[in-house]
Amino acid sequence: MEKLLCGVDLGGTKLSVGLVQSSGKILDRIVVYDHVGKEDEVIVNYITQLVRKIILANGLEESDLTGIGVGFPGHVRYRDGYTITTSNLKGFKNFPFRDILAKNFTIPVRLDNDANAQAYCELRYGAGRGYDDLIFLTISTGIGAGIILGRKLYRGNTGTAGEFGHTIVDPGSDLVCTCGNKGCLMGCACGLALPHHFRKKLESGIKTTLQLPADFSYDKVDGQLISRGVAAGDPLCTAIVMECADYIGIGVYNIFQVFNPPVIILGGGLCNLGEMYMTRIKEKFYELARDMIFDPIAIVESEAGSDAGLIGAAALLLE
Ligand SMILES: [Zn+2]
Repeated sequence: MEKLLCGVDLGGTKLSVGLVQSSGKILDRIVVYDHVGKEDEVIVNYITQLVRKIILANGLEESDLTGIGVGFPGHVRYRDGYTITTSNLKGFKNFPFRDILAKNFTIPVRLDNDANAQAYCELRYGAGRGYDDLIFLTISTGIGAGIILGRKLYRGNTGTAGEFGHTIVDPGSDLVCTCGNKGCLMGCACGLALPHHFRKKLESGIKTTLQLPADFSYDKVDGQLISRGVAAGDPLCTAIVMECADYIGIGVYNIFQVFNPPVIILGGGLCNLGEMYMTRIKEKFYELARDMIFDPIAIVESEAGSDAGLIGAAALLLE
């Protein structure tokens, strides 16, 4: 029997544990939300229980698995399996995550950043199939990325390579990123920036045709609200989408200049902002890259979908 991979996708709101075939097919999964607010060590023990539970529920033994791959929502020091920081969970500062989890099992454990896991999923099973090199950018509440060179993840010296979210695209911006700098790509164009853009544009006199609820506050502005507005032709939401797309277009252009990759894959919830968003990203990119493109570059949407984190975490064992 083919050995299975166990994937763990640890998110700020959702924790998924799954059994995955090497073909990328998920055979079974457990999803929980009650890890939120718990301390690092408690969460690792919880993951241990969930892995044991899914093994048992499928009539398997630990030896039927190749290993356990974990995608973590923050910085990871890959070579020694430490988490460095995360803004999505309590604790995990210089925390020996991999070894604490590994001590509960006899099979190998891999730990990497969640965007790296997603990038690897795209390479094996998604929009990156057939390529040796790719850059994956995920645009959602935050912005993360993964760099694949020669079919392997490029992690840099520490393991934090690919943090394009913290590259500065607008030094004059008054938008402060979670890292504390002004004008980061993430600060300007991720989900967390939407309330700021909404307020700023409203104050500048752009009208919205959206029916805002009586209890409306700016912190309720999210990707879904903006998508609704765009679909209804709302000028305010349209202006926000165009501005965010311009920032991402600049980010994509910078990536192109650094890596000259054959493909850049865009994923994450904000890609659902609509056709106009993706079109504008490409327009901005081609506006900037002009005659500096010698070979075609594909800028495409992720194909791995919402399970990319789980499948990618499991697939880390195949790298
Ligand atoms: Zn930043």
